[in-house]
Amino acid sequence: MADADYYGVLGVPRGASSDEIKRAYRRLAKKFHPDLNKDNPKAAEEKFKQLSEAYEVLADPEKRKIYDQFGADGLKQQVWGGQGFDWSRFTRAGDIEDIFGGDFFQSFFGRSGGLGGSLFEDFFGGGPVGRRRGPAPGRDAQVELEVTLDEVARGGRREVSVQYPMTCPACRGTGAEGERLVTCPTCGGRGQLSSSQQKGYSQFITITTCPKCNGRGQWPERPCARCSGRGRVEEQRTIAVEIPAGVPDGVQLRIPGRGLAGDAGAPAGDLYVGVRVRPDRRFARDGEDLLLELPISLADAALGTEVDVPTMDGASRLKIPAGVQSQTVLRLRGKGLPRFQGHGRGDLLVRVNVVTPTRLSAEERRLLEELRRLRRV
Ligand SMILES: [Zn+2]
Ligand SMILES: [Zn+2]
Repeated sequence: MADADYYGVLGVPRGASSDEIKRAYRRLAKKFHPDLNKDNPKAAEEKFKQLSEAYEVLADPEKRKIYDQFGADGLKQQVWGGQGFDWSRFTRAGDIEDIFGGDFFQSFFGRSGGLGGSLFEDFFGGGPVGRRRGPAPGRDAQVELEVTLDEVARGGRREVSVQYPMTCPACRGTGAEGERLVTCPTCGGRGQLSSSQQKGYSQFITITTCPKCNGRGQWPERPCARCSGRGRVEEQRTIAVEIPAGVPDGVQLRIPGRGLAGDAGAPAGDLYVGVRVRPDRRFARDGEDLLLELPISLADAALGTEVDVPTMDGASRLKIPAGVQSQTVLRLRGKGLPRFQGHGRGDLLVRVNVVTPTRLSAEERRLLEELRRLRRV
Protein backbone atom coordinates (compact mmCIF):
# COMPACT_ATOMS: atom_id res chain seq x y z
CA MET A 1 0.00 0.00 0.00
CA ALA A 2 2.53 2.53 -1.17
CA ASP A 3 0.06 5.30 -1.90
CA ALA A 4 -2.48 3.96 0.50
CA ASP A 5 -5.70 5.84 1.09
CA TYR A 6 -6.18 4.97 4.74
CA TYR A 7 -9.34 7.01 5.08
CA GLY A 8 -10.81 5.23 2.08
CA VAL A 9 -9.86 1.83 3.49
CA LEU A 10 -11.77 2.58 6.68
CA GLY A 11 -14.52 4.43 4.80
CA VAL A 12 -14.31 7.56 6.92
CA PRO A 13 -13.93 11.21 5.89
CA ARG A 14 -10.54 12.89 6.33
CA GLY A 15 -11.80 14.90 9.27
CA ALA A 16 -13.14 11.84 11.10
CA SER A 17 -12.84 11.84 14.89
CA SER A 18 -10.82 9.17 16.63
CA ASP A 19 -14.07 7.59 17.80
CA GLU A 20 -15.42 7.37 14.25
CA ILE A 21 -12.16 5.79 13.12
CA LYS A 22 -12.26 3.28 15.94
CA ARG A 23 -15.92 2.37 15.23
CA ALA A 24 -15.25 1.95 11.49
CA TYR A 25 -12.25 -0.23 12.16
CA ARG A 26 -14.11 -2.34 14.71
CA ARG A 27 -16.96 -2.93 12.27
CA LEU A 28 -14.78 -3.71 9.24
CA ALA A 29 -12.22 -5.79 11.12
CA LYS A 30 -14.98 -8.05 12.40
CA LYS A 31 -16.39 -8.31 8.89
CA PHE A 32 -13.07 -9.23 7.29
CA HIS A 33 -11.51 -11.19 10.10
CA PRO A 34 -9.96 -14.27 8.37
CA ASP A 35 -11.52 -16.66 10.89
CA LEU A 36 -14.99 -15.50 9.80
CA ASN A 37 -14.25 -15.67 6.07
CA LYS A 38 -13.42 -19.31 5.55
CA ASP A 39 -14.69 -19.27 1.93
CA ASN A 40 -12.18 -16.67 0.77
CA PRO A 41 -9.51 -16.38 3.46
CA LYS A 42 -6.80 -14.95 1.21
CA ALA A 43 -8.87 -11.93 0.17
CA ALA A 44 -10.09 -11.45 3.72
CA GLU A 45 -6.54 -11.57 5.02
CA GLU A 46 -5.42 -8.95 2.50
CA LYS A 47 -8.34 -6.70 3.40
CA PHE A 48 -7.74 -7.25 7.09
CA LYS A 49 -4.08 -6.29 6.71
CA GLN A 50 -5.08 -3.09 4.93
CA LEU A 51 -7.54 -2.26 7.69
CA SER A 52 -4.91 -2.91 10.33
CA GLU A 53 -2.38 -0.75 8.58
CA ALA A 54 -4.88 2.07 8.12
CA TYR A 55 -6.00 1.89 11.73
CA GLU A 56 -2.44 1.65 12.95
CA VAL A 57 -1.76 5.04 11.37
CA LEU A 58 -5.05 6.88 11.85
CA ALA A 59 -5.45 5.86 15.50
CA ASP A 60 -2.11 7.39 16.34
CA PRO A 61 -2.40 11.21 16.35
CA GLU A 62 1.30 11.65 15.54
CA LYS A 63 1.31 9.18 12.67
CA ARG A 64 -1.95 10.55 11.41
CA LYS A 65 -0.47 14.02 11.30
CA ILE A 66 2.50 12.81 9.26
CA TYR A 67 0.22 10.85 6.98
CA ASP A 68 -2.09 13.84 6.43
CA GLN A 69 0.89 15.99 5.56
CA PHE A 70 3.21 13.65 3.67
CA GLY A 71 1.13 10.60 2.82
CA ALA A 72 2.08 6.99 3.35
CA ASP A 73 5.47 7.62 1.76
CA GLY A 74 6.18 10.23 4.42
CA LEU A 75 5.55 7.60 7.04
CA LYS A 76 7.79 5.12 5.27
CA GLN A 77 10.60 7.64 5.36
CA GLN A 78 10.16 7.85 9.09
CA VAL A 79 10.38 4.11 9.11
CA TRP A 80 13.79 4.03 7.53
CA GLY A 81 15.08 7.17 9.16
CA GLY A 82 14.12 5.87 12.58
CA GLN A 83 16.03 4.12 15.27
CA GLY A 84 14.64 0.66 15.49
CA PHE A 85 11.51 -0.94 16.67
CA ASP A 86 8.70 1.12 18.07
CA TRP A 87 7.75 -0.56 21.31
CA SER A 88 4.77 1.74 21.74
CA ARG A 89 3.01 -0.46 19.18
CA PHE A 90 2.96 -3.19 21.80
CA THR A 91 1.30 -0.98 24.33
CA ARG A 92 -1.56 -0.45 21.90
CA ALA A 93 -2.29 -4.16 22.03
CA GLY A 94 -4.87 -3.14 24.62
CA ASP A 95 -6.83 -1.32 21.92
CA ILE A 96 -7.07 -4.49 19.89
CA GLU A 97 -8.21 -6.49 22.86
CA ASP A 98 -10.78 -3.85 23.50
CA ILE A 99 -12.12 -4.19 19.97
CA PHE A 100 -12.26 -7.96 19.67
CA GLY A 101 -12.38 -9.14 23.24
CA GLY A 102 -9.79 -11.32 24.93
CA ASP A 103 -10.53 -14.42 22.83
CA PHE A 104 -9.53 -12.85 19.60
CA PHE A 105 -6.47 -11.38 21.14
CA GLN A 106 -5.36 -14.72 22.42
CA SER A 107 -6.07 -16.47 19.16
CA PHE A 108 -4.05 -13.81 17.49
CA PHE A 109 -1.10 -14.52 19.70
CA GLY A 110 -1.73 -18.22 19.99
CA ARG A 111 -1.52 -19.09 16.33
CA SER A 112 1.26 -21.27 15.13
CA GLY A 113 2.30 -21.26 11.54
CA GLY A 114 0.28 -20.32 8.49
CA LEU A 115 -1.65 -17.12 8.62
CA GLY A 116 -0.90 -16.21 12.22
CA GLY A 117 2.80 -15.60 12.01
CA SER A 118 2.74 -13.22 9.11
CA LEU A 119 -0.42 -11.51 10.25
CA PHE A 120 1.02 -10.96 13.67
CA GLU A 121 4.15 -9.46 12.21
CA ASP A 122 2.25 -7.26 9.85
CA PHE A 123 0.16 -6.02 12.71
CA PHE A 124 2.88 -5.45 15.23
CA GLY A 125 6.16 -5.41 13.47
CA GLY A 126 5.72 -5.73 9.74
CA GLY A 127 8.32 -3.14 9.00
CA PRO A 128 10.81 -1.42 11.21
CA VAL A 129 9.05 1.61 12.52
CA GLY A 130 11.01 4.49 13.95
CA ARG A 131 10.45 6.10 17.26
CA ARG A 132 10.44 9.50 15.60
CA ARG A 133 7.29 11.44 14.91
CA GLY A 134 7.55 13.64 11.84
CA PRO A 135 10.73 14.96 10.29
CA ALA A 136 13.05 15.43 13.25
CA PRO A 137 14.58 18.88 13.73
CA GLY A 138 18.35 19.00 14.08
CA ARG A 139 19.92 18.71 17.47
CA ASP A 140 21.45 21.73 19.19
CA ALA A 141 25.21 22.15 19.19
CA GLN A 142 27.26 23.48 22.07
CA VAL A 143 30.64 25.20 22.22
CA GLU A 144 32.47 27.08 24.96
CA LEU A 145 34.04 30.48 24.43
CA GLU A 146 36.41 32.24 26.82
CA VAL A 147 36.37 36.03 26.64
CA THR A 148 38.39 38.71 28.39
CA LEU A 149 36.98 41.43 30.61
CA ASP A 150 37.93 43.95 27.92
CA GLU A 151 35.70 42.08 25.46
CA VAL A 152 32.91 42.20 28.03
CA ALA A 153 33.43 45.95 28.40
CA ARG A 154 33.38 46.68 24.69
CA GLY A 155 31.50 43.76 23.17
CA GLY A 156 32.77 42.45 19.88
CA ARG A 157 32.92 39.60 17.48
CA ARG A 158 34.70 36.29 17.83
CA GLU A 159 34.85 33.15 15.79
CA VAL A 160 34.21 29.72 17.18
CA SER A 161 35.00 26.40 15.60
CA VAL A 162 32.11 23.92 15.52
CA GLN A 163 32.23 20.26 14.45
CA TYR A 164 29.19 19.35 12.35
CA PRO A 165 28.44 15.75 11.56
CA MET A 166 27.66 15.64 7.85
CA THR A 167 26.36 12.97 5.55
CA CYS A 168 29.50 11.45 4.03
CA PRO A 169 29.78 12.84 0.50
CA ALA A 170 31.81 9.83 -0.73
CA CYS A 171 29.14 7.22 0.02
CA ARG A 172 26.16 9.57 0.33
CA GLY A 173 25.52 8.33 3.85
CA THR A 174 25.23 4.65 2.98
CA GLY A 175 28.55 3.81 4.64
CA ALA A 176 29.35 1.61 1.64
CA GLU A 177 32.26 2.03 -0.74
CA GLY A 178 30.75 2.91 -4.09
CA GLU A 179 27.31 2.87 -2.39
CA ARG A 180 27.24 -0.90 -2.91
CA LEU A 181 24.99 -2.49 -0.31
CA VAL A 182 24.28 -6.16 0.19
CA THR A 183 21.52 -7.83 2.17
CA CYS A 184 22.38 -7.95 5.84
CA PRO A 185 23.57 -11.48 6.64
CA THR A 186 22.37 -11.35 10.26
CA CYS A 187 18.72 -10.51 9.66
CA GLY A 188 18.46 -11.55 6.03
CA GLY A 189 17.38 -8.03 5.09
CA ARG A 190 14.39 -7.79 7.43
CA GLY A 191 16.08 -5.31 9.76
CA GLN A 192 14.68 -7.17 12.74
CA LEU A 193 15.30 -10.30 14.72
CA SER A 194 12.45 -12.10 16.40
CA SER A 195 12.36 -14.75 19.05
CA SER A 196 9.24 -16.48 20.31
CA GLN A 197 8.28 -17.73 23.72
CA GLN A 198 5.32 -19.85 24.74
CA LYS A 199 3.43 -18.76 27.85
CA GLY A 200 0.43 -20.91 28.60
CA TYR A 201 -1.81 -20.74 25.54
CA SER A 202 -0.15 -17.67 24.17
CA GLN A 203 2.91 -17.30 22.09
CA PHE A 204 4.86 -14.12 22.67
CA ILE A 205 7.14 -12.87 19.98
CA THR A 206 9.89 -10.44 20.84
CA ILE A 207 11.13 -8.36 17.97
CA THR A 208 14.38 -6.46 18.20
CA THR A 209 16.21 -4.25 15.76
CA CYS A 210 19.02 -6.08 14.01
CA PRO A 211 22.19 -4.96 15.79
CA LYS A 212 24.41 -5.52 12.75
CA CYS A 213 22.58 -3.30 10.27
CA ASN A 214 20.65 -1.18 12.81
CA GLY A 215 17.37 -2.10 11.18
CA ARG A 216 18.36 -1.03 7.68
CA GLY A 217 18.36 -4.59 6.35
CA GLN A 218 21.37 -3.80 4.23
CA TRP A 219 25.04 -3.84 4.88
CA PRO A 220 27.98 -2.30 3.01
CA GLU A 221 29.77 -4.72 0.74
CA ARG A 222 32.94 -2.87 1.75
CA PRO A 223 32.91 0.00 4.26
CA CYS A 224 33.40 3.47 2.80
CA ALA A 225 37.05 4.49 3.12
CA ARG A 226 36.23 8.14 3.74
CA CYS A 227 33.89 7.62 6.73
CA SER A 228 34.92 4.07 7.78
CA GLY A 229 31.37 2.94 7.07
CA ARG A 230 29.71 5.35 9.53
CA GLY A 231 27.98 7.25 6.75
CA ARG A 232 28.85 10.49 8.47
CA VAL A 233 31.91 12.70 8.61
CA GLU A 234 32.73 15.64 10.83
CA GLU A 235 33.06 18.96 9.15
CA GLN A 236 34.62 21.84 10.99
CA ARG A 237 33.03 25.19 10.38
CA THR A 238 33.81 28.63 11.71
CA ILE A 239 30.89 30.54 13.10
CA ALA A 240 31.02 34.24 13.93
CA VAL A 241 29.68 35.06 17.38
CA GLU A 242 28.63 38.52 18.45
CA ILE A 243 29.68 39.10 22.03
CA PRO A 244 27.17 41.48 23.56
CA ALA A 245 28.68 44.20 25.76
CA GLY A 246 28.29 43.38 29.44
CA VAL A 247 27.78 39.66 28.83
CA PRO A 248 27.64 37.83 32.18
CA ASP A 249 29.89 34.89 32.94
CA GLY A 250 28.19 31.55 32.28
CA VAL A 251 25.59 32.87 29.86
CA GLN A 252 24.59 30.70 26.91
CA LEU A 253 24.33 32.70 23.71
CA ARG A 254 21.87 31.11 21.34
CA ILE A 255 22.52 31.28 17.62
CA PRO A 256 19.39 30.02 15.86
CA GLY A 257 19.77 27.56 13.02
CA ARG A 258 23.49 27.00 13.54
CA GLY A 259 23.09 23.64 15.24
CA LEU A 260 23.07 20.28 13.52
CA ALA A 261 21.08 19.75 10.35
CA GLY A 262 17.62 18.25 10.72
CA ASP A 263 15.78 15.78 8.52
CA ALA A 264 14.71 17.07 5.13
CA GLY A 265 11.94 19.59 5.69
CA ALA A 266 12.81 20.11 9.36
CA PRO A 267 14.77 23.04 10.77
CA ALA A 268 18.37 22.80 11.92
CA GLY A 269 19.08 22.96 15.65
CA ASP A 270 20.53 25.97 17.42
CA LEU A 271 24.11 26.64 18.41
CA TYR A 272 24.66 27.46 22.06
CA VAL A 273 27.83 29.33 22.92
CA GLY A 274 28.68 29.06 26.62
CA VAL A 275 30.51 32.24 27.62
CA ARG A 276 33.28 32.04 30.23
CA VAL A 277 34.81 35.33 31.31
CA ARG A 278 38.50 34.86 32.07
CA PRO A 279 39.38 36.24 35.55
CA ASP A 280 41.02 39.64 35.28
CA ARG A 281 44.24 40.54 37.10
CA ARG A 282 43.03 44.04 38.00
CA PHE A 283 39.30 43.88 38.62
CA ALA A 284 36.84 41.63 40.28
CA ARG A 285 33.36 41.72 38.83
CA ASP A 286 30.00 42.08 40.50
CA GLY A 287 27.38 42.21 37.76
CA GLU A 288 27.93 45.49 35.98
CA ASP A 289 30.13 46.87 38.78
CA LEU A 290 33.88 46.39 38.94
CA LEU A 291 35.82 46.15 42.16
CA LEU A 292 39.38 47.38 42.57
CA GLU A 293 41.55 46.91 45.67
CA LEU A 294 43.63 50.04 46.34
CA PRO A 295 46.47 49.87 48.88
CA ILE A 296 47.37 53.27 50.42
CA SER A 297 49.83 54.35 53.09
CA LEU A 298 48.98 55.41 56.64
CA ALA A 299 49.98 58.96 55.81
CA ASP A 300 47.83 59.11 52.65
CA ALA A 301 44.90 57.74 54.62
CA ALA A 302 45.33 60.37 57.32
CA LEU A 303 46.15 63.32 55.09
CA GLY A 304 44.15 62.47 51.96
CA THR A 305 45.57 62.43 48.44
CA GLU A 306 44.79 61.98 44.78
CA VAL A 307 45.83 58.83 42.93
CA ASP A 308 45.52 57.42 39.42
CA VAL A 309 43.48 54.23 39.39
CA PRO A 310 43.10 51.90 36.41
CA THR A 311 39.67 51.70 34.74
CA MET A 312 38.46 49.92 31.61
CA ASP A 313 39.06 53.19 29.72
CA GLY A 314 42.59 53.91 31.02
CA ALA A 315 43.72 55.65 34.20
CA SER A 316 41.30 57.84 36.10
CA ARG A 317 42.00 60.37 38.84
CA LEU A 318 40.56 59.45 42.23
CA LYS A 319 40.43 61.72 45.26
CA ILE A 320 41.11 59.96 48.56
CA PRO A 321 39.56 62.03 51.37
CA ALA A 322 41.64 62.81 54.44
CA GLY A 323 40.97 60.41 57.31
CA VAL A 324 39.73 57.57 55.11
CA GLN A 325 39.36 54.27 56.97
CA SER A 326 40.64 50.97 55.69
CA GLN A 327 37.98 48.98 53.72
CA THR A 328 36.16 52.19 52.78
CA VAL A 329 34.66 51.84 49.30
CA LEU A 330 34.92 54.81 46.98
CA ARG A 331 32.72 54.88 43.92
CA LEU A 332 33.65 56.03 40.43
CA ARG A 333 30.27 56.34 38.75
CA GLY A 334 29.88 55.01 35.22
CA LYS A 335 33.33 53.44 35.19
CA GLY A 336 32.05 49.88 35.43
CA LEU A 337 30.80 47.54 32.70
CA PRO A 338 27.95 48.18 30.29
CA ARG A 339 24.64 46.84 31.59
CA PHE A 340 23.82 43.57 29.81
CA GLN A 341 20.73 44.12 27.65
CA GLY A 342 20.24 47.48 29.32
CA HIS A 343 21.42 51.05 29.24
CA GLY A 344 24.32 52.83 30.86
CA ARG A 345 27.18 51.41 32.80
CA GLY A 346 27.89 50.19 36.29
CA ASP A 347 30.38 51.76 38.70
CA LEU A 348 33.97 51.13 39.60
CA LEU A 349 34.15 50.46 43.33
CA VAL A 350 37.55 51.21 44.81
CA ARG A 351 38.15 49.56 48.16
CA VAL A 352 40.80 51.38 50.15
CA ASN A 353 43.23 49.14 51.99
CA VAL A 354 45.39 51.05 54.48
CA VAL A 355 48.70 49.25 54.64
CA THR A 356 50.39 49.20 58.01
CA PRO A 357 54.16 49.52 57.50
CA THR A 358 56.13 46.53 58.73
CA ARG A 359 59.78 47.41 58.27
CA LEU A 360 60.55 50.87 59.62
CA SER A 361 63.60 53.00 59.06
CA ALA A 362 65.05 54.78 62.05
CA GLU A 363 63.41 58.04 61.01
CA GLU A 364 60.01 56.45 60.40
CA ARG A 365 60.17 54.86 63.82
CA ARG A 366 61.03 58.19 65.40
CA LEU A 367 58.15 59.96 63.64
CA LEU A 368 55.62 57.28 64.52
CA GLU A 369 56.69 57.36 68.16
CA GLU A 370 56.28 61.13 68.10
CA LEU A 371 52.80 60.64 66.61
CA ARG A 372 51.93 58.11 69.29
CA ARG A 373 53.00 60.59 72.00
CA LEU A 374 50.64 63.20 70.48
CA ARG A 375 47.48 61.07 70.29
CA ARG A 376 46.19 57.75 71.57
CA VAL A 377 43.80 56.68 68.68
ZN1 LIG B 1 31.29 7.36 3.52
ZN1 LIG C 1 20.47 -6.82 9.79
